Amino acid sequence: MSGSKHTVIIGGGVIGGFTAWYLAQAGHKVTLIEQESFGKQCSHGNCGYVSPSHVIPLARPGQVLKGLKGMLSSETALRINPSKLAFLAPWLLKFALRCNSKAMMEAGKACHPLLQSSAVLYREIFEQQNMLVDWKTDGLLFVFRDQHEFAEYEQSDAWLRKHFDMGAEPFAGKALQELEPALKPGLAGAWLYRCDAHLRPGKLMSELRRILLASGVRILENTAMTSFSGGNGKATAVMTTGESISADNFVVATGAWTPLLKKSLGVKLPIQPGKGYSITMARPKLCPKYPMILEECHVAITPFEEGYRVGSTMEFSGYDTTLNRQRLNYLRSGAAEYLHEPTAEPVEEEWYGWRPMTPDGIPYIDRSPLYSNVWIAAGHSMLGISMGTGTGKLVAELITGQKPHVDAAAYRVNR
Ligand SMILES: Cc1cc2nc3c(=O)[nH]c(=O)nc-3n(C[C@H](O)[C@H](O)[C@H](O)COP(=O)(O)OP(=O)(O)OC[C@H]3O[C@@H](n4cnc5c(N)ncnc54)[C@H](O)[C@@H]3O)c2cc1C
Repeated sequence: MSGSKHTVIIGGGVIGGFTAWYLAQAGHKVTLIEQESFGKQCSHGNCGYVSPSHVIPLARPGQVLKGLKGMLSSETALRINPSKLAFLAPWLLKFALRCNSKAMMEAGKACHPLLQSSAVLYREIFEQQNMLVDWKTDGLLFVFRDQHEFAEYEQSDAWLRKHFDMGAEPFAGKALQELEPALKPGLAGAWLYRCDAHLRPGKLMSELRRILLASGVRILENTAMTSFSGGNGKATAVMTTGESISADNFVVATGAWTPLLKKSLGVKLPIQPGKGYSITMARPKLCPKYPMILEECHVAITPFEEGYRVGSTMEFSGYDTTLNRQRLNYLRSGAAEYLHEPTAEPVEEEWYGWRPMTPDGIPYIDRSPLYSNVWIAAGHSMLGISMGTGTGKLVAELITGQKPHVDAAAYRVNR
């Protein structure tokens, strides 16, 4: 029925990319427009975890205090630029109101189905399409230096077990050294989530581009959307910096840029760029076997087949495009506290990306209030890779009128 329908996707990140894929599979003609190059923004230099275990959002009990500390110091993973406070205030207030156990549970329940379905869909698509993305299913280690923090994490693990049926295995002392010899001795311990996996994001995006082109998707780069034309609650065409493109449906998957399109969408979504950094380099001689989060400094480590990445930090500083050396040094010094060989040469890339952060940690997947055939898929915060396939499939189901495999009610724009 939908064979002749044309859909334009705006935004060439992991969300726009997988939406294009599932729509093309459903028989739609698909055009994807990207203001720069496909897959080169936030979906490029991130840590590559596909982690169903990450149901706890950034807005959690105790985070307000951490945010205040992050306003006063530049030596914390979470940083709020005090000079941008007026711009950030409405978002920060919404965020602060979510830093409680009830809201944390609500976010966990909202994201869990998309995280679960995405993990399954990744396995399926990598196998069926022979995508080579350094996919590894070894799990993810949460590593602690501090004895008290390590022991206290048991409560979070019990919470995940009870509500989401996802438990980790604790390792300490000799058992931890045997599991992961790249870690320094004397650390308190680590929790291993075997349900998590990881991949190399740059490879994911180039392989995704390959299968999109092979399935007939037209990708227009260096083409930015400026507005929609239409009337009576329906968009008829998207205006871009190049051609204007007519279609039956439109999907706005513009990540952290989405609030800038508020006039065209009829809603200003509370999405802030949450700036994170990464350094990609050669594999150290004693390279970690497992991807891991170094919990006290929140630095994340990802070993690839031919490389190694150290990434982290969450900086709220608006649409700031500077590559801050102090933040990059924070990654190096954080990793040095836990690993025998925290870094290696040569450095391949120093990078920053803007996570599309929502105050509640839940993405927006819904129609625009202005046009019934314009869909929004944005705000995947710290989990866009982990929720990429599930989101793409869900949007395709909503557009083609199939029964959604995940209930989309939690992702409403007017929640
Ligand atoms: C340091 C770091 C580590 C991370 N680690 C992980 C991880 O391990 N696991 C995980 O799941 N997530 C992780 N994330 C988060 C994840 O990277 C993001 O959630 C995800 O990439 C967002 O995807 P997206 O498609 O929404 O946005 P993007 O990838 O940013 O794509 C949006 C695209 O829209 C384009 N665009 C914007 N406006 C327009 C316009 N007007 N016209 C045309 N195009 C436009 C942009 O140029 C961009 O290419 C991490 C992020 C960072 C910064």
